[in-house]
Amino acid sequence: MDSMSDLIKRSKKIVIKIGSNVLSDDCGVVNKAILHEIVEQAYELIDKGKQVVIVSSGAGICGVGAINKWSRRGDINYKQALCAIGQVELMMAYKEAFWDFNIHVAQILLTREDFSDQHRRLNIRNALFTLVDEGVVPIVNENDSVSVEEIKIGDNDSLSASTTNLWNADCLIVLSDIDGVYDKDPKRFQDASLIEEVWDIDGLLMEIDVLGKSDFGTGGILTKIEAARSVNEYGIPLILLNGKKKGVIRGAYEGREKGTVFYSK
Ligand code: ADP
Repeated sequence: MDSMSDLIKRSKKIVIKIGSNVLSDDCGVVNKAILHEIVEQAYELIDKGKQVVIVSSGAGICGVGAINKWSRRGDINYKQALCAIGQVELMMAYKEAFWDFNIHVAQILLTREDFSDQHRRLNIRNALFTLVDEGVVPIVNENDSVSVEEIKIGDNDSLSASTTNLWNADCLIVLSDIDGVYDKDPKRFQDASLIEEVWDIDGLLMEIDVLGKSDFGTGGILTKIEAARSVNEYGIPLILLNGKKKGVIRGAYEGREKGTVFYSK
């Protein structure tokens, strides 16, 4: 069995999903230092000859930071407006961060329907392959303005799984604000213990407590587990790491970090 470090070393094509909890600081504003840190680690992977696609949440919080109002409005149209405003800010932050490493970024906004339509699937695939082959890093997010359902579900974990499967990546790294999957919510229970390897998702779901949703993160741990199920079906592992930890991808690559690896059978 490959260790987490072996898996990352062996992977040529890597999707990195960045959760909104990772990108937001305590005041709910996007934390550019963390974003830059993650971009730097993505660059290190690219520098080692790997290809990287990023799936990033965070448009909503960027919108709150940019316009400084509506943060508490529950109506879907205001949420969409915040995401539309924030998406520009988010992309600007990625563009600036990647530009420090002379790398161009590209924005790809998708909806669930894009994956179910065969022609659109092919178009997305071609766009991803072309961009990556040309050394550009695609930054994928939900197209919130056209997908009301998506805002309700708000689930970039499953978007990252679909992207991983469509691009035939070798592994999906999901960055959240916890070290991995625990037997219970680590934010509520100090004695929660980390589960480092998962081979049987149904078995895992019977053993753990998966409650808990944050203000900004919308999927919770369950959508990460379902994302793992989805990529595992294509023979692709999912690695869950704490994106708030400095140098976590580098550490995982070097075998110094803990997380949860969902292995495909
Ligand atoms: P993100 O914004 O990174 O996608 P989410 O807030 O959607 O993150 O989901 C991660 C959260 O799920 C964690 O911060 C944690 O509080 C919560 N959670 C609930 N149960 C568990 C569990 N058994 N193991 C790990 N995290 C859990």
